[in-house]
Amino acid sequence: MAIATIDPTTGITLKTFDAHTPEEVENRIARAEAAFRSLQNTSFEERARWMHKAADILESEADEVARLIATEMGKTLTTAKYEALKSATGMRHFADHAQRYLSPETPVPAKEVNASNLHVQFDPLGVVLAVMPWNYPLWQAVRFAAPALMAGNTGLLKHASNVPQCALYLGDLFARGGFPEGAFQTLLVEGKDVIPLVDDARIRAVTLTGSVAAGSAIAEAAGRNIKRSVLELGGMDVFIVMPSADIEKAAAQAVIARLQNSGQSCIAAKRFYVHEDVYDRFEHLFVTGMAEAVAGDPLDESTSFGPLATERGRQDVHELVRDAREKGAAVQCGGEIPEGEGWYYPATVLTGVTEDMRIYREECFGPVACLYKVSSLQEAIALSNDSDFGLSSSVWTNDETEATEAARSIEAGGVFINGLTASFPAVPFGGLKDSGYGRELSAYGIREFVNIKTVWTS
Ligand code: NDP
Repeated sequence: MAIATIDPTTGITLKTFDAHTPEEVENRIARAEAAFRSLQNTSFEERARWMHKAADILESEADEVARLIATEMGKTLTTAKYEALKSATGMRHFADHAQRYLSPETPVPAKEVNASNLHVQFDPLGVVLAVMPWNYPLWQAVRFAAPALMAGNTGLLKHASNVPQCALYLGDLFARGGFPEGAFQTLLVEGKDVIPLVDDARIRAVTLTGSVAAGSAIAEAAGRNIKRSVLELGGMDVFIVMPSADIEKAAAQAVIARLQNSGQSCIAAKRFYVHEDVYDRFEHLFVTGMAEAVAGDPLDESTSFGPLATERGRQDVHELVRDAREKGAAVQCGGEIPEGEGWYYPATVLTGVTEDMRIYREECFGPVACLYKVSSLQEAIALSNDSDFGLSSSVWTNDETEATEAARSIEAGGVFINGLTASFPAVPFGGLKDSGYGRELSAYGIREFVNIKTVWTS
């Protein structure tokens, strides 16, 4: 994929970028390694000061950054600005809490292991490579960068090829905050050229957010090199609605759950399992809400959701819808590519989806919901778990026993009761099965890229 900003509302290429040459890549890795030697000797206080300053800069530039995000990948200006401000909040969180998350621990009293002193400390690993996607071009990268830098690691960002200007902005942001030159840099390289980076001995760990195919390639290379890796891949998150739920609220939130980021979110609900006692009411409210949401110009503040980020992405979404329709699914709304320029796709609801349809198992990265009727919570849970993915889930019930049962039995990295799945800086985020492994954010996330070192004194 060429490295370029292509306007998703027109398909017009606005700016192209040359990939870094092998010499430029080499130079950046060497600088990242040199910067690590100085960063690892700085204090949490110093790093926190730089991180807060970088967050100040980001906040003060939120309007122009939002425009950049909206232009490069098509989300609405309002949600892009929210993303920029959320990223600054995430940076401040790790500035304020990294020291606590990484303070030394004593697992047992020293004398239990015949020592006079015992502690476990969390040392940085070195240069960490982050391979990031375009869907949240700032937040996905910041949720790697903030904990990594606060732990004392240095970072190399290989961002998605369709968001180069967001990538270059991030490449400067942390240095502008005061971090040593080389502590965080952007590499302009294409996905096909990433594996040699994982093979490079100076890169000590790697994290990827993206597709299962890319995650699998990274995991294979990391395994071959015996390197730490964290993967945050796709999701087929469920949205379960039980009779005791507030159905109006659940239906309104279901629309948001499916349409956030034009449906291009790993934690967007994709499968909706609704109890038969409330199915008709929910279906009416949900389909009406989806049909009323109109895709439009992301720069217009009244727009519900923007175009899909890439032409290929829209083609993939439509192929899944076409396959389902041909095999007998009913299209309750949407389902047709609109006339005109830009990579728009309408909010779409499918019913009658069966196992032989691709969309039953494959992640649909666009505004398409599959709505199913179930007769019990047990059936909804069994269907939820009948998936290769296990990222998160949302369960709507006011019955405590059902909530407990869902939390216990759903095979996913998260269960949100009566609310949308979301990410918070202080809460772990990640999945199971093909959704990946390892955790981002929180104390669990910052500890992914540290050496857990035992110090035992006789
Ligand atoms: P990719 O997984 O292809 O892209 C994500 C990142 O990985 C990009 O930086 C990309 O670089 C890089 N990459 C791609 N192939 C490789 C590879 N073989 N080795 C190393 N790095 C690689 O996602 P797409 O953008 O193509 O989207 C495809 C599907 O992936 C979506 O439909 C969705 O299902 C899933 N996805 C999930 C996301 C999530 O949040 N979990 C985010 C984005 C996508 P480059 O851009 O240069 O190709």
